[in-house]
Amino acid sequence: MEKELVKFLDLKAVNEAYRLEIDEAIQRVLDSGWYLLGEEGVAFEEEFAEYCQSKHCLGVASGLDALILILMGYRELGVIEEGDEIIVPANTYVASILAISRSGLIPILVEPDEQTYNIDPALIEEAITERTKAIMAVHLYGQCADMDSINDLARKYDLKVIEDAAQAHGATYKGRRAGSLGDAAGFSFYPGKNLGALGDGGAVITSNKVLADAVTALRNYGSFEKYFNRYKGMNSRLDELQAAILRVKLKNLDADTDKRRQVAESYLVNIKSASSDLTLPYIADYGKHVWHLFVIRHPNRDLIAARLAEQGIQTVIHYPIPPHRQEGYPELHNLSLPLTEILHQEVLSLPISPTMDHVSIQRVIEAIKKSLV
Ligand SMILES: *Cc1c(COP(=O)(O)O)cnc(C)c1O
Repeated sequence: MEKELVKFLDLKAVNEAYRLEIDEAIQRVLDSGWYLLGEEGVAFEEEFAEYCQSKHCLGVASGLDALILILMGYRELGVIEEGDEIIVPANTYVASILAISRSGLIPILVEPDEQTYNIDPALIEEAITERTKAIMAVHLYGQCADMDSINDLARKYDLKVIEDAAQAHGATYKGRRAGSLGDAAGFSFYPGKNLGALGDGGAVITSNKVLADAVTALRNYGSFEKYFNRYKGMNSRLDELQAAILRVKLKNLDADTDKRRQVAESYLVNIKSASSDLTLPYIADYGKHVWHLFVIRHPNRDLIAARLAEQGIQTVIHYPIPPHRQEGYPELHNLSLPLTEILHQEVLSLPISPTMDHVSIQRVIEAIKKSLV
């Protein structure tokens, strides 16, 4: 008998759990006759700022835009100038780096820590130059970067700390949530993220009122007042429909995260000693992981992925090509980043989501054990 596929992420099921409330939210916006920069957006911004233990939230069109708007804001405020350098982990999703180059700035790639896959704080100092203005810390896969070390260096060299929190809604570091761990943070509400909209969306989080004001204008053509342009801004707003839907999902985010933790826990306990070549995710003791992705590492990654596929288990590679090897970044091709390069050959993401049932979890565990022999 053909077994049902265990999907990497069943987005339909994830949203189905909230169908009634999402339907209501959509009706509310439809009936309001107001579709951009209205009550739903403001309410979501207040709720998400509070959730992130920060002061200000600005809804924007995507996670990439959130990061671009933070950098544009700092440029308008004279904190960062064209051609300045921003330190960023080499193994991040390319969007972190796109935000830097899109903003007329130079990404300086630093290798990750081999255990957490987050930027290695011990390698940051040697990458700092006269032109360095900020460190972009990415909380990759849902686990916070080592923020105390990063913030200490930032203080020493007078740098801004920007969190790319696109994969880390609700993750904590020493009891504080992602979004409150640096000067400003960018979040994504891409449908597959832990807090996902039914389309694109993002947010800038900061406790800095001056930066928040600049971003408020920059996301709306650079205007504080209609038809008066303080800055050369862009159109990057979170629409009312997505904001209303995100309010429903935000209320349930912690419960969903707990379900992800249960899946991760089952994998960690049951796959533990399957093979000495297999590396399971490492959990740093400084915070709480939100398991956007459950990433294993194995020297024969492609073979494992193929064997899992034969057994009906869908996996994904995050990410197959490192940013400095991408066609769009010829200026980075001469970099040598051995750990980043090997990680891209060896990582594999197993299915994880709040709606995964016990049977699917067991099937993944059994399939992994079979694939390793
Ligand atoms: C998803 C993601 C982004 C970009 O967010 P979008 O909403 O897709 O633009 C940026 N950084 C990281 C680490 C991401 O995972």
